[in-house]
Amino acid sequence: MKYVNIMGVPFLNITQQGFVELLDKRVEQKEKTFVITANPEIVMKAYEEPEFMSIVQKATYVCADGIGVVKAAKMLGEYLPERVTGYDSMVKLLEIGNKKRYKIFLLGAQKETIEKAVANINATYPNVDIVGYQDGYFDWNNNTIAETVANLKPDLVFVALGVPRQEKWIVENYDKFSHGVFIGVGGSFDVIAG
Ligand code: UDP
Repeated sequence: MKYVNIMGVPFLNITQQGFVELLDKRVEQKEKTFVITANPEIVMKAYEEPEFMSIVQKATYVCADGIGVVKAAKMLGEYLPERVTGYDSMVKLLEIGNKKRYKIFLLGAQKETIEKAVANINATYPNVDIVGYQDGYFDWNNNTIAETVANLKPDLVFVALGVPRQEKWIVENYDKFSHGVFIGVGGSFDVIAG
């Protein structure tokens, strides 16, 4: 695996298609995986905030969410083939999940938004098994969401709480999970909800 370091953030040198295939392999092999899709704003945040940088360092993979990261690599004399976004990764993983009947869990967004997103996923990818979902406006210090996710053992967990909440939630709870691909997807549920 090749990486490009941009201001201390290690970006995976991979195409969108290659990345989705890699994540699918990790699902098949039941290898727990934490993905950060990082745009230039996230790189700056990691650069400026040591606490956030330590979260970024815990990711299994960081991919280049936005053409700005691809261009920054070029300016450094390095190469990243293309942008690899959270939304595109999610859609492609749903396509694969529809063929392989993957179990997924969705966490984040407003209640009406996530309910619409779940309905749209069920309609478009009927073989994807949505084992559970939860809106993103819960009491951080008093919730059993992670325990629920751990018990359901989903293959894929999409977390749309915005940056840095989604990454924090994954890191704080990561030890509870036996396997699964955990990916922060920002505003993707809003897009899928339409
Ligand atoms: N969100 C959430 N809980 C929060 C804050 C945000 O579930 O406490 C959701 C929000 O509803 C939206 C998603 O996180 O669906 C992404 O939010 P935003 O666009 O602010 O994040 P960014 O795109 O900057 O990561």
